Amino acid sequence: MSPLDLVMERIEQARLRVDAHHIVKLVAVSKYSNSEDVKKLYAYGQRAFGENRVQDLEEKCGQLAEYPLEWHFMGNLQTNKINKLIDLAPDLVQSISSLELAQEMQKRLEGKNAFLEGLLQINSAREATKGGVDPDEAIACYQQIRQECPNIILQGVMTIGAHVEEREVIKQSFEITHALFETLRPSGAHICSMGMSSDFELAIECGSNMVRLGSVLFK
Ligand SMILES: *Cc1c(COP(=O)(O)O)cnc(C)c1O
Repeated sequence: MSPLDLVMERIEQARLRVDAHHIVKLVAVSKYSNSEDVKKLYAYGQRAFGENRVQDLEEKCGQLAEYPLEWHFMGNLQTNKINKLIDLAPDLVQSISSLELAQEMQKRLEGKNAFLEGLLQINSAREATKGGVDPDEAIACYQQIRQECPNIILQGVMTIGAHVEEREVIKQSFEITHALFETLRPSGAHICSMGMSSDFELAIECGSNMVRLGSVLFK
């Protein structure tokens, strides 16, 4: 069995605990690996990949240009990297972490007459080291971006689970994010991206429909 098969099986078991109709998408986070590793997973059928640095995204997009891959960006986005990111035209920017960032992105997208699909990142564990919007402000922020940033097409929310050992605390951060997702569904939210190598089964059980896995796939 490939590492991909093992992971797919774990995702399958977790999603069946939710509902036979609950579909979960896997984004393979290639930040710890090189283009050769990406090609291996591609050969097993994986198509969606993610990076957390614009420079790494640029490098892999370039090296893998002839492969029909879907690219996700999920890192802290500095203002001076926005133009570069827009030019790379990722399929989904998962880390829109503030209204200010969205407004900066909107200005540049407008200038280039470009559009980007994105997720609003929620700081569900309220950790100072993490990016993202405070859960209490998330709904208003989401609606404001939809109204004021027409070149950003919001598709839902993303969060990183609490960075602690206690399962209950991690679970709570996922539940908070999933509740926001449900509230935003009538506004077109259809992606709830949560779950990494250490906590993806728990995230799926809390309603995640997109997991972002790195270390468990690339080792
Ligand atoms: C690195 C990263 C991941 C994957 O992390 P693993 O624990 O290796 O699965 C997922 N999401 C984001 C935002 C990341 O930066």
